[in-house]
Amino acid sequence: MGEICKICNGTKMILNKENIPIPCECLKKARLESIYKQIGIPIRFMGSNLEDYLLKQDAHGKDIDPISESKKTVARSVVKKFIDSLPNMIDGEPFSFEIEGKGEVKSFTLLMMGQEHSGKSMLSACIAKEAIKKNILSFYLEWAEIINLCYDYYSDASSRNKTKIEKYEKIISIVESDKLLIIDNFSSVYENNNKFEEDKITSNVRRQIDAMFSERSKKAAPTVIATNQSLKELISDNKYGPVFLSIIEDSIKIDLPTLGKSFNNFDIKKVN
Ligand SMILES: [Zn+2]
Repeated sequence: MGEICKICNGTKMILNKENIPIPCECLKKARLESIYKQIGIPIRFMGSNLEDYLLKQDAHGKDIDPISESKKTVARSVVKKFIDSLPNMIDGEPFSFEIEGKGEVKSFTLLMMGQEHSGKSMLSACIAKEAIKKNILSFYLEWAEIINLCYDYYSDASSRNKTKIEKYEKIISIVESDKLLIIDNFSSVYENNNKFEEDKITSNVRRQIDAMFSERSKKAAPTVIATNQSLKELISDNKYGPVFLSIIEDSIKIDLPTLGKSFNNFDIKKVN
């Protein structure tokens, strides 16, 4: 697969100055990519980095308006600072950010709000990848994965088998861990008229989510949540329990514009 590395000719090893064989860069890259895949980072973002989040253009390469440009500039610097703060966060110190005119805000949760093509998944992937490079274990989950597993577990107790229980327990252990957790496509409504999906947040599922996130907040672990909804939409329909909602409300929020359009919320921890 792929081209043969020109540095090592495909042998994966090179000789250092002392003529001792050491791993070639291509081997290190392959190892990293294998970790990225294991923790769930979408394959399309394997090669992306923060610089790919363009400040003057939208995802289609079209120039954006100055307000969106300034929002994107702030968003990228918040993400960069979040990445830099990860080692401290793992040690129990919250992420803090200075908002002009509002002072310093602190939280363990970063909420990225943006429509499709706003770059939220790409930025999420970048955060997870940079964490791995800092030897911080992270997990990248789609919100629907969590909901589906909880729903399946509770919906039909008679069909619970070993695989189902293992998957359910694995997702709980990930959410309740003190590692970096990235949740992409968090939504309280599922689009494309997928009403069945919407109904998956039953009272059991809601309680389970709250229980998991309650454990997680006790550990004060860094969390990134990316959503295509506004704060108002997320918290207004009573879909989630009090613990999860308080995590959302307490998060540091950034707006990711797309095609010049962006959300317009007022929140104490809203950065841009
Ligand atoms: Zn090589």
